[in-house]
Amino acid sequence: MRWNRWKVGMGVLAALLLTGTSAAMASATRGDILLVPERIWTAEGDAAHTGWAVLIHDGAIAAAGPLNTLHAPAGVQRIDLPGTTLTPGLIDLHSHVFLHPYNETLWNDQVLKEPQDYRTLEAAAHARATLLAGFTTLRDLGTEGAGYADVSIKRAIDEGMIPGPRMFIATRAIVATASYGPGPRGFRSDMELPGGAQEVSGVDAAIRATREQAGHGADWIKLYADYRVGADGSTQPTLSLAEMKAIVDTAHLSGRPVAAHAASDAGVRLAVEAGVDSIEHGYGASEATFKMLKQRGVAYEPTLTAVESTAQYFDHYVPGQSEPTPRMRDAERAFRTALKLGVMIGNGSDVGVFTHGDNWREPANMVRDGMTPTQALHAATDVAARILRQQQTFGRITPGLRADLAAFNGDPSTHIDDLQHAVFVMKDGVIYRTPQTTP
Ligand SMILES: [Zn+2]
Repeated sequence: MRWNRWKVGMGVLAALLLTGTSAAMASATRGDILLVPERIWTAEGDAAHTGWAVLIHDGAIAAAGPLNTLHAPAGVQRIDLPGTTLTPGLIDLHSHVFLHPYNETLWNDQVLKEPQDYRTLEAAAHARATLLAGFTTLRDLGTEGAGYADVSIKRAIDEGMIPGPRMFIATRAIVATASYGPGPRGFRSDMELPGGAQEVSGVDAAIRATREQAGHGADWIKLYADYRVGADGSTQPTLSLAEMKAIVDTAHLSGRPVAAHAASDAGVRLAVEAGVDSIEHGYGASEATFKMLKQRGVAYEPTLTAVESTAQYFDHYVPGQSEPTPRMRDAERAFRTALKLGVMIGNGSDVGVFTHGDNWREPANMVRDGMTPTQALHAATDVAARILRQQQTFGRITPGLRADLAAFNGDPSTHIDDLQHAVFVMKDGVIYRTPQTTP
């Protein structure tokens, strides 16, 4: 495992240099580009359009429609993508680029033993893998002990120094005192442990932490409404309603939305009452609680793949063979309830728990648990963009939006698993992957 990671690391380094060069070249010659796939799924409606093409001008989508109706300028660079479906660049609303799979290294050991410098280099490699898989935007919900290093990753991507998706970042995340790992339970009580997030107690401390994170560069504020703090290890609420309200009000004053980790029914309910904008996980939420989300327009990210992955690592679960674990059944029940009620469901996977670049597993799991392929595609494109308040910038293939695009072999609008076959990726009009380049 250690050797594997080293080899992967070397490959990534070489490819980083190569990709950096090609990205720079692409932006230097950023002219008009005509993309001609087999079909296009625009996220405007549900149907894919065979025989359509997309014209890119100055990093934006200039036109999309039947190839013979597009007026491509002379000298346009035409790129044929036979056998593929072109979609808006995909969005994952729940990632941790500073984590890697727990069957490689347990979460405690990543936070306690991996130097932040090393984790930042890992994060750069993870960002690259994500982009090349067709995911052009991430909402990264907490650095898990790596401080404010996400601010630097985002900056390096924005400056074109490293390839990666657009990043919406949460920096440290806010937790109640002694209510998040590592420990303190299970460790010597005289040990000074680094926090996986920023601990607060009281309204003043909650306001202060929110302002500090915003001041350092957080786009979203992430809080933990509950955690495994029960005397028996059960999930129980952590921050009080007053503390969460203070965080939400402070964040909203500065124009920042709030995402809440909440797995128990009580935790979800308190977070919604406090006014958060999205609920992460929600496995234990009741139908009555999901109705509250629906009524208040709160988004929901189901993170089905996090549950599946931990079942694989720790419960011997084998996809397609084993019976789902009790936790997987809870997650599925919550997802089906939210889907039935029409709650706004965004694609959020908790990737980092599983391998970066395998983000496609979440839309695939959403289809396994009841969505149609086009519902899952919407959750990962226009709906996710709306949750990010970016629907006027990306998330659909329509004139005026930025050219964030991905093409996949096959047709994910009918076979969602085809999302694992990305062959072309463009972000902001810059090409990062074509069928001719092997990453
Ligand atoms: Zn998470």
